[in-house]
Amino acid sequence: MRPNSPMTMVLPEQQVRDRVHQLVPELWSTLGDLVRHRSIATTPAPPLADTAEVVAELFRAAGLRTAKVETITHGGKTSAPMVVADEVAHTAVATVLLYAHYDVQPADASKWTTKPFEPTEKMDENHDMRLYGRGAADDKSGVMMHLGAIKALLGDRGQLPLNIKLVIEGEEEAGSSVLESYLAEHPDDPRFHADLVIVADAGNVERGAPTLTETLRGIVAAEVTVETLAGKAHSGMFGGPVPDAFMALVQILATLQDRKTGDVAIAGLTQFDHAWPTVTEATYRRDAGVLPTTSLIGSGTIAKLLYGKPSVNVVGLSGLPLVSGSTNVLCPKAKARVSLRLAPNQDAGEAYAALEAHIMGAAPWGLKPVVKRIASGSGFVSVPGEHSDDIERALLEAYHATSVARAGQGGSIPLVNALQAANPESDIVLWGCEEPTTHAHGADESVSQSELEHMTLAEALLLRSVMSPIPIQPS
Ligand SMILES: [Zn+2]
Repeated sequence: MRPNSPMTMVLPEQQVRDRVHQLVPELWSTLGDLVRHRSIATTPAPPLADTAEVVAELFRAAGLRTAKVETITHGGKTSAPMVVADEVAHTAVATVLLYAHYDVQPADASKWTTKPFEPTEKMDENHDMRLYGRGAADDKSGVMMHLGAIKALLGDRGQLPLNIKLVIEGEEEAGSSVLESYLAEHPDDPRFHADLVIVADAGNVERGAPTLTETLRGIVAAEVTVETLAGKAHSGMFGGPVPDAFMALVQILATLQDRKTGDVAIAGLTQFDHAWPTVTEATYRRDAGVLPTTSLIGSGTIAKLLYGKPSVNVVGLSGLPLVSGSTNVLCPKAKARVSLRLAPNQDAGEAYAALEAHIMGAAPWGLKPVVKRIASGSGFVSVPGEHSDDIERALLEAYHATSVARAGQGGSIPLVNALQAANPESDIVLWGCEEPTTHAHGADESVSQSELEHMTLAEALLLRSVMSPIPIQPS
C-alpha cells in the first residue's frame, strides 16, 4: 500500500460475487493439490510440516504477508505445526479470526472406489462437480473458503479495512489438541482474540440449504483397566473362585446404558433443548446404515438424541486374543476405552468426574478398576453477538435463499469451546462445505463444487459486511 493512502473502500456485492466465481477453478485445483498431501493426524510421525508450509505459502501469495508456520508448547507437549497470520490494518476496524484444519483422518483405501490421496473429479446426478479425496471436505475445503474469501476481497489491493487472524491447525483429528488445552488455560492470549470468529469446519444440513451450526456436543474419553491375576491361568485348573478380568470389565461396561431404554445411565449428566431441524427415522437409518432388524434406542426425538443428549460407547478393547487364537485361559487384565459424547451445555470436567464415579461404583466383587482420562472437551452453544444479522444475511445472499437452518452437530470440536471462552462477547460462526453427502471421515469423502463456491461467497460477503465502510488512514 502507498504510504498515507486511505484503505480501499468496500467492494460492491456484485463484484465480490463475480470474483468468487472467477476464483473457483483455481480454488478447485489448489484443493486437489492439498488432497495429495497425506496430512493424516494419527500416523506416528505425521507428515504435517510440509502441508503446513504449503498452506502458509498459499496465504502469503494471497496477500497475508504475516502467514507463517508455528507451534505451541503446553503441558510439556508441542502442537502439530499450525499456520497463523496476524494482519493488523488499524485499531479502529473489526478483527476476524479464521479457523480451519489441514490434518485429515486416516483412509482405508480398500473401502474407497477412488484413491484417497489422488484427487478425482466426478459429476453427480445433480450435474454438480464433486472432488473425491481424503480431506477434500474435512477440512481442506475450509482452508479453501478462507483463502478464496481473502483473495476475492483483497485482489491486488494491499490491505483490507479489517484485521485478520488466521489459525489453521494440524491436530484437529488427532483426538487431543495441544492448541485446545493451551487456549482453554490461556483464554487471555490476544493472538486468539477477535470480534468475529469463523470456524469453517461444519456444513449445511443438506447440499444447497444454508445452515449455521449452533450447537456441538462435547466429549470425554477414559480408559478403564481391571486386573485380577498376576498372569494367565488355565481355566480348568483355576477357573471358578477368581474373577476373570474381562468378565468383570464387561459387567462394568454393561451398566453405562439403561438395559431397557438404552439411555446413558451415568448419573449427573445434563441434556439440552434447541430448535434443531427434525431428523426423520428413515433419514437417520439410511445415513447411519442401521440394519432393518435393529430397533432404535434412547428417549426423545432423534435430533435430541443426536445433538442434545449424551451417548456412550466402547471404542477400543484389549486383554483378550482374537477368537481364532483363543485358548482356555482366564483373562488376568482387561482394558477398554470408553467414549462419552456430551450435551452441548455440559461441563467436560464434571462429565468426566461423573463417568469415573459411575465406573468405580459399578465394579463388581470389590474390584478397584483404574480409570484414566484420555480426552476431554466441552461442547458449544452459540450466543448471538453484534454480527449475528450480518452472518445470516451473508448466507441468505450467497444462496439466494429465504431462510437459514439452525443445526446441531453430534460430533465435537473442543477448540470451539475454547475460542468462545477466549471471546465471550464475539460471534462464533460455524459453517462450511461438509454437508451429509461429503462422507467426512468415511470412505469416498468428497466435496461439492457449488457448495465450495457458495460457502466461499458467504464468507467473502460476511467479511465485506464487517469491514469499515469509511476510508481509514493507515495507523
Ligand atoms: Zn474437521
